[in-house]
Amino acid sequence: MSENDNMPYEQSDLYRIRHSAAHVMAEAVREHFPEAKLAIGPPIADGFYYDFDLGQDENGKPRTFSPEDLEKIEITMKKLLKKNAKFEQSSKTIAEAREFFADAPYKLELIEELAAGKVDENGNPISEPVTEVGIYQHRNFVDLCRGPHVGFTKQVKANAVKILRSSGAYWRGDENRAQLQRIYGTAWHNKAELDTHLKLLGEAKARDHRRLGKQLGLFHISQLVGSGLPLWLPKGAILREELESFLRQAQVERGYLPVITPHIGKLDLYKTSGHYPYYKDSQYTPIDVDDEQFLLKPMNCPHHIEIYRSQPRSYRDLPLRLAEFGTVYRYEQSGELNGLTRVRGFTVDDSHLFVAPEQLEEEFIGVVSLIQHVFQTMGFSDFRARLGTNDPNSDKYAGAPEMWAKGIAAIRKAADKAGMSYTVEEGEAAFYGPKLDFIFRDVLKREWQLGTVQVDFLLPERFDLAYTAVDGQKHRPVMIHRAPFGSMERFVGILIEHFNGAFPLWLSPVQVVMIPITDRHVAYANKVATELRAAGVRVEVDASNERMNKKIRNAQLQKVPYMLVVGDKEEESGAVAVRTRENEDRGAIPLAEFLAGATDLIASKAVEL
Ligand SMILES: [Zn+2]
Ligand SMILES: [Zn+2]
Repeated sequence: MSENDNMPYEQSDLYRIRHSAAHVMAEAVREHFPEAKLAIGPPIADGFYYDFDLGQDENGKPRTFSPEDLEKIEITMKKLLKKNAKFEQSSKTIAEAREFFADAPYKLELIEELAAGKVDENGNPISEPVTEVGIYQHRNFVDLCRGPHVGFTKQVKANAVKILRSSGAYWRGDENRAQLQRIYGTAWHNKAELDTHLKLLGEAKARDHRRLGKQLGLFHISQLVGSGLPLWLPKGAILREELESFLRQAQVERGYLPVITPHIGKLDLYKTSGHYPYYKDSQYTPIDVDDEQFLLKPMNCPHHIEIYRSQPRSYRDLPLRLAEFGTVYRYEQSGELNGLTRVRGFTVDDSHLFVAPEQLEEEFIGVVSLIQHVFQTMGFSDFRARLGTNDPNSDKYAGAPEMWAKGIAAIRKAADKAGMSYTVEEGEAAFYGPKLDFIFRDVLKREWQLGTVQVDFLLPERFDLAYTAVDGQKHRPVMIHRAPFGSMERFVGILIEHFNGAFPLWLSPVQVVMIPITDRHVAYANKVATELRAAGVRVEVDASNERMNKKIRNAQLQKVPYMLVVGDKEEESGAVAVRTRENEDRGAIPLAEFLAGATDLIASKAVEL
């Protein structure tokens, strides 16, 4: 793409193009739905949207856009883009704006919030009241808007714009407010860029982990259990357990100790830690048990801290690295839930390291190198690190400024020593300390935040943690929170899409399908399967009545790495005819040779077959 990678999106050409496209799309909607009330229409990553209130249908339900409506709107939008008009900027006082937008209730609400210093035109928080609001006009279309826009509508190329879909969206994301209709669109510099983007969108849809998760029998969402609470089916559980045992082994090698803690804890525990009330909005209502209140565990940290505090600690105990695949529960709005990637209960590959201050740097480097090891094993080569610091203007962070400075300095030093480059993003820290996040770019060039490492001086203070140092005095340890995968659910969701369900051999729930050519070869197929299973290979035998080619196709749809076809010839020579899920025919090879090769690939966690 021609954009400078380092330029903030808000200052880029594409941002202006998309914002301008949003205005022209709203102009087109107004041509077809003169009564539509406009809400907000910002640019977003890869495109833009605009929210409309279309009133109610004859049944009193919010009116929606049909696919035919969207087609008409797109045609009109393109016509309006080509019919050149200038974007004119001006401003109005709050009083003038109130009068001008008197018939636009959503704009009026935004004007009041701007005047009160609460949120801007795009719904983002602002710090100061506004006395004059920005206005952009082209032709008769006037919007409450700070811009920026392109100069003329023609600068948004009609053949580089596409309306993608519409969906319901609550005003201000609040389920108790009006339900609006959101139209998503995308706009690019030129048609070639648009085509590339549409191709990637098509690929992403084909790889959707919700669809593949069902097709491959990995997980299930039961409405009776509840949305956002995935059930792991046997094949998904095998995949997840493989990931867990891989990380467990890597942790054992690095001196981590396992712990197991319960799913609830007393409210007081989280008041002490500060997770309550800091994370109140993302927690469930406390549970009353006898005379006490408990919380569904939103975080594992306080439980691990109580393990640290279970006995007096000395410098000989440090660093103490406690690890647990700990399940936590967070509230997410139902509209935000998405397969495995946005859920209400998930398992963190969590660990807390309690270290002496002088050990912080070395331990941080150790954690960074563990995360690098995890990513390399997965075959993730395209990733970057982001240092999240506090936003000094926000009150959502706890702890003294010098603690923050110390933590940030430690991360910088450790990252430099580990040779890890990173960008700095203000406001991305956890409430108790700065963090280094690892952001992975998948094969479709989409970015996902995965592993995270956080330095924490605050919780040790809140819980009055101590250890006896060499000098015989009590000292305060520092904590490192870390999770290389992030969450098992999200990580598996991302893996499914990245690999398109065709996992590396060691992660494949079924590694081999035996395909007997006729009934007469089932016995030999079973014999081979038994031998492979004894060597730790996961095998299924397809003894169905289907024809051989159908069996091969079925296994390929299940993305099983190897199909071993056996008939008279193979049985006589103790061989197997090897096919791969990519439909590669490797011919007949001795069983012993296949077994040696496959167990080798599994043991080395090879990404390729
Ligand atoms: Zn605007
Ligand atoms: Zn933690």
